[in-house]
Amino acid sequence: MKFFKKKQAPKEEEKFTGHVGCLSEIQEDTLSLFKEYIEKENITTSDRFTDHYLLRFCRARQFVLEDVKKMFKEFIQWRELNEVDECFIHYDVSNMPEVKKFYKHCFHSTDKEGRPFYIDCPATAAPIEDLFKVADANEIIRNYILQFEYLLHVRFPACSKAFGKKIDKCFSIVDLKGLSMGMFKEKSREFIKIPLSITQKNYPEIMHALLIINSPMVFKAIWLVLKPFIAQRTKDKIKILGSKYHDDLFQYVDKSNVPTEFGGNCTCENNGGDCFMSDRGPWHDFPGDKYGEMYKRQLLGDKCTVPIPDPIPVDPQTAIISPAPSIAPHIQSPSPASAIPPPTSAMSSQPPS
Ligand SMILES: [Zn+2]
Repeated sequence: MKFFKKKQAPKEEEKFTGHVGCLSEIQEDTLSLFKEYIEKENITTSDRFTDHYLLRFCRARQFVLEDVKKMFKEFIQWRELNEVDECFIHYDVSNMPEVKKFYKHCFHSTDKEGRPFYIDCPATAAPIEDLFKVADANEIIRNYILQFEYLLHVRFPACSKAFGKKIDKCFSIVDLKGLSMGMFKEKSREFIKIPLSITQKNYPEIMHALLIINSPMVFKAIWLVLKPFIAQRTKDKIKILGSKYHDDLFQYVDKSNVPTEFGGNCTCENNGGDCFMSDRGPWHDFPGDKYGEMYKRQLLGDKCTVPIPDPIPVDPQTAIISPAPSIAPHIQSPSPASAIPPPTSAMSSQPPS
C-alpha cells in the first residue's frame, strides 16, 4: 500500500466565517449556549436579537462563550441606561441637519457588493466650538445611537433586499483633509471619543473595511500611539492612505457612487445637488423592518408628541464604564485605552468595528 503525505489542511475553524449558514460545530454550540444563557438569565426577551444579531457578538469575541456573554450583558445594560429601545420617543434630533452644516458626514449609496458606503470628514467639525453651539455632546451621542439603530433596521435590510443577499456590514472612508495638531484640543478629543465609545462595545462587527484618506503626517504619529491598543482583527480592516487613495477607493466603490470631491462622478444632481445631504441609497424609499419604521419617522422629522424626559442621573453602581461627565451626564464613554480610530461608520451617522 502506498502512502501519500497528507496536504496541510487549513485549520478546521478557519473555513467558517461565523455567520448564519457558515458555522462550525463549535460555533453552533456556542450560539446555542449563548441563547440558552439569554433566556435562562432573562437578559432580554426582545425579538430584534436574531441569530444574525447575536453572531456579531460571538465573532467580536471569537466565540469564547464567557466573553460573549459578558459583552452582550453589558450591551443590554447600556441600552437600558440610554433608553435605546425607546430612542424614537426620547431622542430629539431635530437639530441634526444643522449639525451637518458644521460636520460633513453621510451614508452615500453602496459599495460594489451592496454595502452602505459611509463618508466622514471629521476635520470639517473644526473649530469644534461652532459645532457645539448647535448641539451639545449629549445630543450628538443620541444622534449616533439613532443612526446605528437606523443602519441595522433600515439601511441593512434595504441593501439586502436590493442586492438579494444578506448585507450586514458597511464600507467607510474617513477623510482627514485639513486635520492639524491644533484640532486635538480637549473639546475635539471629546468629540472624537463619541463614536468610538458607541461602536466598539455596542455595535461590533459592522465594518467591512475602512480607508483613512488624506492622512497627514500628524496622524501617522497618532496612529503609532494608538496601534498597540487596537485588536489585530480591527487593524486588518483599516488602510491608511495619503492623497493617492483613488485606486483603493474605486476597488470598493463604483465611480458613479463616489461624490466628485473624492474623484467620482456623483453630484446627486437629482437629489438636491449635495451628496452629503441627499441620503442617496436603496434605503431612501424603504420602510425598514418592524423597528426601522419608527426610526425612519423620527429621522424624517415626524415630531413626537411624547415629552422628552430629563437626562437620567448616572448611578455609579450600574454604570458599566466610568462615564465622562463633561461629555454627557448619563451616556457611557470609552476609557482612553479603548480609544480606537474610527470604525466604519466611524464618526457619524454610523458606523463599526
Ligand atoms: Zn451623490
